[in-house]
Amino acid sequence: MLNIVLFGPPGAGKGTQSTFLVESYGLVHLSTGDIFRSNIKSGTELGRLAQSFMDEGKLVPDDITIRMLESEVNAHPDAKGFIFDGFPRTTAQAEALDGFLMERNTPVTSMLALDVDEAELKIRLLKRAETSGRPDDANPEVIQKRIDIYNADTAPVASHYAVQGKFIAVDGMGNVEEITERLQAAISI
Ligand code: ADP
Repeated sequence: MLNIVLFGPPGAGKGTQSTFLVESYGLVHLSTGDIFRSNIKSGTELGRLAQSFMDEGKLVPDDITIRMLESEVNAHPDAKGFIFDGFPRTTAQAEALDGFLMERNTPVTSMLALDVDEAELKIRLLKRAETSGRPDDANPEVIQKRIDIYNADTAPVASHYAVQGKFIAVDGMGNVEEITERLQAAISI
């Protein structure tokens, strides 16, 4: 079982790199952002709850996010492993994830943290806005808010895995292929 937490600020390339890791290792990809967006699109209660937070660049509250993620994990009892993309984003989410993976006897293998400098993040997000249709990518104030929340609430999640000896930093600057190779090298450690 390979359970990877793919970590990093907004625009670090988690979604892009997940596609390659899913293909190479046969993992189930769980992106909390994608799941929220598909719920917004199909007009569910969960989507309605999440939308206002996402539009403002804030985190969706932990209780909603944790319940949603747990039910997604439970929906894949035969998974060879998971790639968690965009989760956990708070220490409470990390503790909850440890708890329900422990029930399944399949702990997190490692956290791979993509390191990208802030100026590059902003360039990537504004570029993505041209094609993604995501309102949270098109507005520089919302981008700044997401980066600030990442630094304040999400970055500390790295120490949660560091104390477990599971944190691996990966240089996220450069082209997509070379970053994929760095991630693959980190997984095979
Ligand atoms: P990015 O990594 O570019 O910010 P995501 O698609 O991962 O994009 O997330 C988009 C938005 O979805 C976040 O700004 C937040 O509002 C919400 N979201 C996603 N994952 C979580 C989470 N684990 N906890 C709370 N909110 C989340």
